[in-house]
Amino acid sequence: MVLDLKYVLIGFIIIGSLIPLYIYRKEIYKRFYKKGSTKGFMKDCEIYLVSNHPKIKFNFNIEKKYEDEKDIRIKETLIVEDLISQYIEYDYELITQKSVPKEVLWGGYEANSRLIKDNKRPSDWAKRREVAWNRDKGKCNRCGIKTKLVDAQVLLAKQMKDGGGFNLENIVVLCSDCAKVIKSENKQKTAKDLNITYNLMKKVEG
Ligand SMILES: [Zn+2]
Repeated sequence: MVLDLKYVLIGFIIIGSLIPLYIYRKEIYKRFYKKGSTKGFMKDCEIYLVSNHPKIKFNFNIEKKYEDEKDIRIKETLIVEDLISQYIEYDYELITQKSVPKEVLWGGYEANSRLIKDNKRPSDWAKRREVAWNRDKGKCNRCGIKTKLVDAQVLLAKQMKDGGGFNLENIVVLCSDCAKVIKSENKQKTAKDLNITYNLMKKVEG
């Protein structure tokens, strides 16, 4: 029984490490030492990040920082962590957005743009969200990734407590990763829950 439990635990550790390898990487990799070049991996990350997150100015000249690390998978994991931390630390401010042409607006738009009691969202909130998403061509305002309408996150540029309303200029469209980063109080912890982390970790040599 004791042995069974041990295997279950190891299973959990391996599954848990598929996404964020931060804690377990040394434990798992030290038994499967592997050498090699990270050039192809680096190029792959660069192509992926530039095309998916065009608004973030990544520094890809980071391989040197990790040249002492001989095991390729640890090195690649460190590179991924570096890129993720650049993504998280990228300086961004929620600001007023573009207006949409008047003919796109609908009856009741102006009245519903004002704050309602209890900070409730207006009845036409879904429509506002969709119009804002169309205005931005479905792209995240912070990183530029294309989002589906259903996955798009919206935040108010000027908070309600500061008098911000539901007018379209105050609605900012973001991807779920950027919304998490902006709202996060513990960015390193948030890093583990991001899609970008999952997608980059998949590129690390198995
Ligand atoms: Zn984003």
